[in-house]
Amino acid sequence: MIVAERKNVPELIDIIKEHKNILVLGCGTCVTVCLAGGEREVSIISSALRIASKVRGLDLKVEELTIERQCDNIFIEQAADAINRNDAVLSLGCGAGVQAIAERYANKPVYAGLNTKFLGILEEHGIWTEKCAACGACVLHEYGGICPVTRCAKHLLNGPCGGSREDRCEVRPDRACAWQLIYQRLKNIGQLERLKKIELPKDWNASLSGGPRVIIREDHRI
Ligand code: SF4
Ligand code: SF4
Repeated sequence: MIVAERKNVPELIDIIKEHKNILVLGCGTCVTVCLAGGEREVSIISSALRIASKVRGLDLKVEELTIERQCDNIFIEQAADAINRNDAVLSLGCGAGVQAIAERYANKPVYAGLNTKFLGILEEHGIWTEKCAACGACVLHEYGGICPVTRCAKHLLNGPCGGSREDRCEVRPDRACAWQLIYQRLKNIGQLERLKKIELPKDWNASLSGGPRVIIREDHRI
């Protein structure tokens, strides 16, 4: 899932301070699961903004709404009335959701209330970890399903770097060395032979270089 975290209230107030009527718009998908932008967070942020408004004498009116997905026009439509009757939208969706709404409402200011962080998983209660950098050309099959691009601090495709101590990464000692994990995983599944192969430099053409990426499925186009 996409993992995000909330911006702090002083920053949010600074972002929206020129408006009087704000819609705080949540998203019911990834950011709900990572406790950053769902219905509950919309309520918390809205209350915090009302309090901050009173304290600073801003006379801010805050409306709350959460739709199922902000990155999908079908669901954005459900927010049309609320978007139209407010001066601006403070989106608690991911960066894709914020931009989807801004594209659809060309004359309405739409602001990001979250910092979108990474593609990851819930590791344990209250802890999310990054698993994929969306490089566009997945090599997980070479590494036992453990991504060196994302999980090795030096992004080494031919690791380890030699700095690991007692299975910890030398750059991030609070995290396991990705290459220790890769070795153990390949051993467990009987594929250690893969480590004898020297990986060529990765072709980054499929990553962010060259502007936004697009996938076109001709078989789904009408
Ligand atoms: S190799 Fe690329 S696509 Fe595959 S998990 Fe790693 S970053 Fe994500
Ligand atoms: S210690 Fe391991 S995870 Fe950290 S940079 Fe070196 S190889 Fe990568």
